[in-house]
Amino acid sequence: MSDSAPTAGSSPAPTDLTEDRPVYVIGGGPGGLAAAAALRARGVRAVVLERTGSVGASWRGHYDRLHLHTTRRWSALPGLPMPRKFGRWVARDNVVRYLEKYAEHHELEVITGVEVSRIDRAADGSGWRLSASGGRELTGRAIVVATGFNHTPHLPDWPGRETFTGRLLHASEYRSPAPYTGKDVLVVGVGNTGAEIAVDLVEGGASRVRLAVRTVPHIVRRSTAGWPAQATGILVRRLPVALVDRAGRLMARAAVPDLSEHGLPRPDTGLYSRVKEGAIPVQDVGLIDAVKSGRVVPVAAVESFDEDAVVLADGTRVTPDTVIAATGYRRALEPLVGHLGVLDGRGRPVVHGARTPKQAPGLYFTGFTNPISGMLRELARDAEKIAKRVSRKGR
Ligand SMILES: Cc1cc2nc3c(=O)[nH]c(=O)nc-3n(C[C@H](O)[C@H](O)[C@H](O)COP(=O)(O)OP(=O)(O)OC[C@H]3O[C@@H](n4cnc5c(N)ncnc54)[C@H](O)[C@@H]3O)c2cc1C
Repeated sequence: MSDSAPTAGSSPAPTDLTEDRPVYVIGGGPGGLAAAAALRARGVRAVVLERTGSVGASWRGHYDRLHLHTTRRWSALPGLPMPRKFGRWVARDNVVRYLEKYAEHHELEVITGVEVSRIDRAADGSGWRLSASGGRELTGRAIVVATGFNHTPHLPDWPGRETFTGRLLHASEYRSPAPYTGKDVLVVGVGNTGAEIAVDLVEGGASRVRLAVRTVPHIVRRSTAGWPAQATGILVRRLPVALVDRAGRLMARAAVPDLSEHGLPRPDTGLYSRVKEGAIPVQDVGLIDAVKSGRVVPVAAVESFDEDAVVLADGTRVTPDTVIAATGYRRALEPLVGHLGVLDGRGRPVVHGARTPKQAPGLYFTGFTNPISGMLRELARDAEKIAKRVSRKGR
């Protein structure tokens, strides 16, 4: 993609696109593109600033076997369905194709290679000033921050980490099992990414795969008799947490075998309580079978490293060739907006979607929650809400 994406096209925009101050959207992932398209559909000029050379940068970097866990229909962004030929569970490369097509279809103004480093109030108080790479200073009437929930890989500061003589990498660097054929691998963390990488490794010929578990996860089937787990997530999201926790327990007993004797007991806190704390359930893409058959062996959490050994919480020492840390990401919003008092104690925006912080009107955030109903679906909905609000209020 060129420095500034083409904006010319056959279909004219619905109303005036010549506002002297556009809305700047920071980030050219699904959240930013959806917001820009929804704004444009309401006649508001939106300019997407993307730090890499192309849209969908996060998706380009994900591992090869990744497919959406959410259905094609409920993962599409406003104004463009995903093609049927992508199938129900869309592959990573098709997600990237869709995002490229999306920017083109909506004739979005995307400026690539521009990283925004800080957001401040404009000197005249009527908008927002962005400081960006290349010494750029840009002023927008409103800003949509869409820099991603999974912004900066988080590698815990385990004692002795630097003494480890094996290979230690974050899951964000993992692409395929090929480099690990015949190797003894310890995957740390059993979220969706850790669970899927562990399965990928056994299927790809790793000699031994252990999975270090700090908190036992909730595991759900991606679909049961054709009914996707996401549909249940959408239906229950507004119900009381305790009720959903109870129903989740019953469903898990019916659909997921007891893996206690294989080292994965059932969790003792409810599924929806966990979601509210930020941990979405693990969708089974082979973990249950791999654990049952002993091809993936759950072990205790990692405590520290000691040269060739990894010391686990139960005192066991293991000596894997490689440790893959599926230990999550940070939002890393502090440099951008930390000085504006709009982040909570966990570094997440205090508001999202169409709501803006009281002291920061015109500053929107999208993509910083991890909903049970699917993040892409929520990004799409938030985009519409933000666009409606901006077009009504002018910022
Ligand atoms: C492995 C994995 C699988 C997932 N699977 C699903 C799924 O099946 N279904 C679902 O609904 N959700 C899924 N998600 C969650 C979510 O939908 C995706 O993470 C999605 O990409 C989020 O979109 P986003 O636009 O908010 O963030 P991102 O896609 O991360 O996009 C953020 C963009 O902002 C750019 N950027 C960052 N900082 C700056 C800056 N300072 N200046 C300029 N640009 C910047 C980045 O380069 C990037 O292009 C998954 C997430 C992961 C990690």
